[in-house]
Amino acid sequence: MPFIDCQTIAQNWINELKAKKRKAILNIIQVGDDYASGVYIRNKLRVAEEIGIDARHHKFPSDISEDDLIWEIANIHDGAIMVQLPVPKHLKGIEQCIEAHRDVDGLTRENLGSLFLNDISGFVPCTARGIMRILEPYELAGKNVVIVGRSNIVGKPLAHLLLNADCTVTVCHSKTINLSQHTREADIVISAIGKPHYFYPWDFSEGATVIDVGINRLNGKICGDVHPSVADHCFLTPVPKGVGLLTVAALMDNVLRV
Ligand code: NDP
Repeated sequence: MPFIDCQTIAQNWINELKAKKRKAILNIIQVGDDYASGVYIRNKLRVAEEIGIDARHHKFPSDISEDDLIWEIANIHDGAIMVQLPVPKHLKGIEQCIEAHRDVDGLTRENLGSLFLNDISGFVPCTARGIMRILEPYELAGKNVVIVGRSNIVGKPLAHLLLNADCTVTVCHSKTINLSQHTREADIVISAIGKPHYFYPWDFSEGATVIDVGINRLNGKICGDVHPSVADHCFLTPVPKGVGLLTVAALMDNVLRV
């Protein structure tokens, strides 16, 4: 089966955003020198420029204190703000200091709480939003969906969105017993565990849709949680050029709504 064409889905979304010709500012906060974060930020800057968003990269040393970083963020007066994760341990939860109406990653208590209450008028976390865009053509009501991974940025928000779309949602994690028994019974599986090529064709039923969120390194190359051979009998998103593209498009959509 062909891979799901995430590039086209993302580009169509970006084109829609471009057509709005709206002025907006995105402030990206980076703490430290994490290599992968640098790559993600460059992608965000590139797509922002394509849409006409004024993206500003604020970089701080990894030993900046929590108080100093809060002060720096409080001094950003214009536009959207996001903190590129991960941050050093002593800054865990720093995103909570962003005002909810500028929190385009949707990670503040206010935005996550609204999502819990089925209110998506705030900001919804970008990867979860991006995955919903991939699933837009599907008749989701009644589908059995298994999400593997329960993080606050991917698994949990996605579970809410899919429940709101009338799916029957199972959330699995590292303590789940007989994981593949769950995944084999699903119409749609979303994997966000961060383990290279953890899933193989026998973990899914024929014709299932498999969304691979994982971004891992294996022998120096980027790969997903799912082995590409799964695409022989399932609809699979590729890695790279998969969900990551939709995450960035969703971020830009959120920025234009600030
Ligand atoms: P976290 O480390 O926060 O969460 C991982 C989750 O996977 C946890 O809930 C963990 O369970 C679960 N898990 C780990 N191992 C297993 C296992 N063997 N079986 C079942 N469940 C398991 O990761 P994130 O959610 O931040 O990211 C997950 C992956 O997605 C990473 O590879 C990350 O790089 C990628 N990512 C990609 C994005 C994109 O745009 N494509 C965006 C964000 C992340 P437990 O809770 O029990 O520990």
